[in-house]
Amino acid sequence: MLDVRKIAKDYSTRGGTIAVLEDCTFQLQPGESLAVVGPSGSGKSTLLNILGTLEPPTSGTFELDGVSPLGLGENESAAFRRNRIGFIFQDHHLLPQCGALENVLIPFLADGAVSESQKSYAGELLRRFGLGDRLDHRPGELSGGERQRVAIARALVRRPGLILADEPTGNLDRTTAGTIAELFQTLLDHSKENGIMLILVTHDRELASRMHFVRELDRGILREPQERTP
Ligand code: ADP
Ligand code: MG
Repeated sequence: MLDVRKIAKDYSTRGGTIAVLEDCTFQLQPGESLAVVGPSGSGKSTLLNILGTLEPPTSGTFELDGVSPLGLGENESAAFRRNRIGFIFQDHHLLPQCGALENVLIPFLADGAVSESQKSYAGELLRRFGLGDRLDHRPGELSGGERQRVAIARALVRRPGLILADEPTGNLDRTTAGTIAELFQTLLDHSKENGIMLILVTHDRELASRMHFVRELDRGILREPQERTP
């Protein structure tokens, strides 16, 4: 499970210290999903970066499956991140010279050789996300939505316990909205079936409503969304 307690984050700037996060506290059980909403600048990416061990909180703690990554050395922290967390960003950084299957296998390259079972799992994921007939297509030969599918398969290929997705639909145009909903439904189903926890930052209310929980970042505090009168 993921157990997040009183995470806070301040940044020091020339203009003084700004408190971006004051209290983020929540728990997720395996297979559960959380949508994080909130206006631009409310600290959504900061929270994801902290949970992804890309930057430390100012205070607070969290544990993923019984392990607290805070206080690990640089190498251990990198191993924790590589083995337990999958990232899906808006800008997915696929390697342009590599085909879809090769791109999904990138997380294994740090270990050296890729095994046959890893290769077949990568192919299975691409098939699950509807790219079974695109395994050798390079990113430039795929649509935006298809590239996003490759990035999702890549995030899943090491069987992480936690997936962090930061506005993954932000760059995709509205005409593909229907297939995007379908794509994230597939990700949700896959996560539920495999006990993966999913945290997704999104402005898409319909997508957020498909998740187990929706929380809003409001002046540094992660809370139940307030109904607003229009
Ligand atoms: P969101 O993802 O919700 O749009 P961010 O987490 O990116 O918000 O940023 C939250 C606030 O923290 C913003 O006001 C931003 O300017 C500030 N911020 C983010 N990173 C830094 C940094 N490295 N140094 C100083 N301020 C930062
Ligand atoms: Mg952001």
